[in-house]
Amino acid sequence: MIFLETPSNPSLDIVDLEFVGKLAKKHNILLNVDNCFATPYLQNPIKWGADIVTHSATKFIDGQGRAIGGIIVGRNELIKEVRFFSRHTGPCLSPFNSWILSKSLETLAVRMEKHCHQAMELAKYLENKNEVFNVKYPFLPSHPQYDLAKKQMRMGGALVTFEIKGGIEKGASFLNKLKMISFTANLGDTRTIASHPASTTHSKLTDSERKKVGIEAGTIRISVGLEHLDDIIKDIEMALS
Ligand SMILES: *Cc1c(COP(=O)(O)O)cnc(C)c1O
Repeated sequence: MIFLETPSNPSLDIVDLEFVGKLAKKHNILLNVDNCFATPYLQNPIKWGADIVTHSATKFIDGQGRAIGGIIVGRNELIKEVRFFSRHTGPCLSPFNSWILSKSLETLAVRMEKHCHQAMELAKYLENKNEVFNVKYPFLPSHPQYDLAKKQMRMGGALVTFEIKGGIEKGASFLNKLKMISFTANLGDTRTIASHPASTTHSKLTDSERKKVGIEAGTIRISVGLEHLDDIIKDIEMALS
């Protein structure tokens, strides 16, 4: 099985779904796409040849940081096995969490529209700031795979990454100075979240392993929430200064 995520966490690299879809078919390999960052609203991997689509529903599908869960989508014959395994080993949603997640799906489209619009505006703002560099967002024309992102995604998503000049020390002081934005190792909430992959989600990798997947010591990942855009920008402005 080929298992991939696009956009990737946290580097926001894009994997060419049409290319990998054809490659998998040619070699008769299952293609499983982690669609967590894009959500079904922004990207539909099955259209490009994926056999299975996996979501962490904990993120945008819940969207409000209340429940953890996951969704696996695919043909009946494939899902039958997953269902059998889950029934007998335990990773099943409780009825209450299922209810929360299915209610959330009713607002996924409107939430994603706003998340994406605000993320795009924040990315443009950051690109003009002297204190940061390497601003990455799939729908910024400066993204090295901008055309590919435009081809397979409907909007750019809610995640923006950048590096603070001055490395890990300046990065840490930036995170500590944020007031409204939450410093947590989660994403996809109504609240804007800043995270520092090198010391949290990717702390188990060595420096050189992190570099290989595009994570520098000073890389900051922002999951843009649904607060007023001016408040988000103001908090970042204040922490940078
Ligand atoms: C968070 C995350 C996961 C894991 O999901 P959990 O709900 O925390 O188990 C998998 N893939 C991506 C891209 C994620 O961001």
